[in-house]
Amino acid sequence: MFRERTKKLNNMMENTNGNYVVYCMEASQREDFNHVLEFSIHKANTLKKPVIVAFFITDKYKFSNQRYYRFMIEGILKTKEKIENRGIRFLILKDDFVNGCLKLSKNACLLVLDKNYLKTQRIWREKVSKFSNVAVYEVESDVVVPIEYLFSKSVPFAYIYRNALEKVLDRFLLEVKPLEPTIKSNNLDLNLENQMNFNTVEDFIKNLNIDKSVNSVENYYKGGSDEAEKLLKIFIEKKLPFYKEKRSDPTVDYTSKLSPYLHFGQISPLKVVLEILKNYDREDENVKAFINELVVWRELSRNFTWYNPFYNQYKGIPSWAKDTLEKHASDKRDYIYTLEEVEDAKTHDEYWNAAQKELLITGKIHNYMRMYWAKKLIEWTDHPKKAFDIACYLNDKYALDGRDSNGYGGISWCFGNFDRPWQERKIFGKIRYMSSRSLETKFNMKLYIEKFKKS
Ligand SMILES: Cc1cc2nc3c(=O)[nH]c(=O)nc-3n(C[C@H](O)[C@H](O)[C@H](O)COP(=O)(O)OP(=O)(O)OC[C@H]3O[C@@H](n4cnc5c(N)ncnc54)[C@H](O)[C@@H]3O)c2cc1C
Repeated sequence: MFRERTKKLNNMMENTNGNYVVYCMEASQREDFNHVLEFSIHKANTLKKPVIVAFFITDKYKFSNQRYYRFMIEGILKTKEKIENRGIRFLILKDDFVNGCLKLSKNACLLVLDKNYLKTQRIWREKVSKFSNVAVYEVESDVVVPIEYLFSKSVPFAYIYRNALEKVLDRFLLEVKPLEPTIKSNNLDLNLENQMNFNTVEDFIKNLNIDKSVNSVENYYKGGSDEAEKLLKIFIEKKLPFYKEKRSDPTVDYTSKLSPYLHFGQISPLKVVLEILKNYDREDENVKAFINELVVWRELSRNFTWYNPFYNQYKGIPSWAKDTLEKHASDKRDYIYTLEEVEDAKTHDEYWNAAQKELLITGKIHNYMRMYWAKKLIEWTDHPKKAFDIACYLNDKYALDGRDSNGYGGISWCFGNFDRPWQERKIFGKIRYMSSRSLETKFNMKLYIEKFKKS
């Protein structure tokens, strides 16, 4: 269950005289289908020690805002309760990840971390493994097939990823069985500072100096694994049979809406696949279409951010795409907008404004409109680099599922990544173009505008 998902990050030994095994949770914020938690219990049982779980909250993180902290804390409080019900102490500590892990490592037998594919979080892990006085393990639980197992380099096209993945997928479709901790740790005396022993989300928010200007979106998305399970049930029962045909239509609601929960690790993608396969045939065309998004595209995005150090920068797009965009960078634009104008959804294009309002109001944009949204920025800024930066800024600030490999993969796709050259045209060069006319021919766009008219 753990072999291909686990890596030792440093050369330190396990300290058999330590007081506990500690799992410092960051990416996989759930109790069930969590290889990292089960690996930690397995290690603790082998060493005849208790296991504890720690989650660090800081208000110093670049993207700390009320919208996604509320969602995250709603989820983490539920995860805490479920893990404590298994006899495992769950600590919420006000600290940054590196300091927090290192403080706990002083009395630990070993440290277990989950895997994250983004730069900042990778640096955190490197620092922890470098300065820890005990062994540090990393376990990868937020993908179906481990990223480095499948490829050791960046993959340029989805079909290459899909072909490789299909050959090994069955081997990884295994349930994650819960292990029983031999020694319960609920009452372990740890004498730690900085514990955040609040019971409500409001108390956490009050005690954190985070950006409160970005409103929370709990009318649309409530955090927690239980909420993710509810959405998954609705998806399996009502939407999946129509997914292939209707997933691209922004006027209807036929996608799973699981991306915020997947982003925070509140649900495991492996569990999602296994639940679907309990109800549907693997060869069903809707199942295939969904797996293509959830596994192929999602894991290709993780491959991209793992192997391309410039994943969130214009310079990270393929060279053919950059060449063609640069060639057309001085083409005349009919409209140029500032960041403030696009942020406030004040462009001449009512479809684009509706997509931006969807982001501001609900915390997410429908997938099809997300492509249109990012591509139009190329047309309305004086250089594609500026368009790329604005897309990342707005997506990371407002999208509940932002600051994720999928966001950087999706934005760079709009700039030619994973795509081929198309017929050359002004401003876009050979980058695939999207027009408001084609939206109108495909969908009833009036309905989409109506949805987000208020405010
Ligand atoms: C410009 C742009 C920005 C994007 N930003 C994000 C982002 O910040 N976070 C994010 O999770 N996704 C992002 N995507 C990908 C995609 O739009 C969302 O994953 C999807 O709309 C989420 O809605 P859902 O959960 O209902 O999707 P569903 O259609 O139900 O798909 C299920 C899951 O598959 C994965 N998935 C679906 N489409 C894609 C895709 N194109 N690429 C990678 N994985 C995919 C997601 O994890 C999603 O939750 C972006 C796409 C574009 C073009």
